[in-house]
Amino acid sequence: MTKVILTTGCSSGLGVQLAVDAAKAGHNVFATMRNLRKRAALDTAAVEAGVALKVLPLDVQDFDSVAACVDQVLDDAGRIDVLINNAGAGFVRSTEQASEADISWVMDVNFMGVVRCVKAVIPHFRKQRSGHVINISSVGGLVGQPFNEIYCGAKFAVEGYTEAMASYISPNFGINFTIVEPGGIQSEFAASVLKQVEETGGMLDDEYLPILQKYVGGSQTRQAGSDIYQTAAEVSAVVMDCIASDAPPIRTRTSKWGEAFCALKTDLDPDGKKLQQQVFDQFLSD
Ligand code: NAP
Repeated sequence: MTKVILTTGCSSGLGVQLAVDAAKAGHNVFATMRNLRKRAALDTAAVEAGVALKVLPLDVQDFDSVAACVDQVLDDAGRIDVLINNAGAGFVRSTEQASEADISWVMDVNFMGVVRCVKAVIPHFRKQRSGHVINISSVGGLVGQPFNEIYCGAKFAVEGYTEAMASYISPNFGINFTIVEPGGIQSEFAASVLKQVEETGGMLDDEYLPILQKYVGGSQTRQAGSDIYQTAAEVSAVVMDCIASDAPPIRTRTSKWGEAFCALKTDLDPDGKKLQQQVFDQFLSD
């Protein structure tokens, strides 16, 4: 069935792949990005795949921009079936080293950005009595990792936010929620993190430095020689399965590595459906 799909963060990485794969699957895709001057990667990928996409501006940090984009999609397509909250940004600094502005920005892009898009789309899903919100989280939304406490905090927030909505909105209004938890993705993400560190004073020469060097140095080795990193196409394939499913998971990892890494948190309830039922039974059953 052809669905109308709105996805964020389509200037690079996973967002490009999601938009193209969804269009290849026959969906009506509205691919968005905050800066349309960065649309070349998406346009090239669409041409190579032989698909047509509608490209619109959407900055997840600006509610007016989100609302205007949602209105435009509704004017054009008459409905939205799937919202993919993909836009996000990494951040590697300890709390001591992070400025308040850094922390606010990381929370705003990764968490408030998701909330803004859900807030704009959910009234339409509720009227339709259908819809699917797919939030791209991370294994970092389940397992805290060194120097990633601010980013992990934002992704944990996305996880709790999504779980909470799945507990009462899904059973009452027929709207699905899915949290996708990739490990590493080969994309601009890591380079953007390092650039952000450089632009905000570089690695500080303090007691954290040897620990940070171990983490960053190790991450380059991990990227080269292990199965932590997936291609955007591999992660996108998991998202496409979620879009196609009549009963999508509440949460899903995207690789065997991710499954093993999160197993202490997810083994009892890998897709989150037991927890959803437990919360419903606890608070909303007759
Ligand atoms: P990426 O290549 O850096 O892409 C991130 C996208 O988010 C870009 O299109 C970027 O746009 C966009 N973005 C940032 N701020 C935005 C804003 N205010 N409004 C709209 N768009 C904004 O990274 P990626 O790997 O594809 O990341 C996609 C998602 O996967 C993110 O949610 C990320 O947290 C998650 N993830 C990534 C990894 C990884 O290792 N890469 C692992 C787990 C989860 P600009 O080009 O304008 O900056």
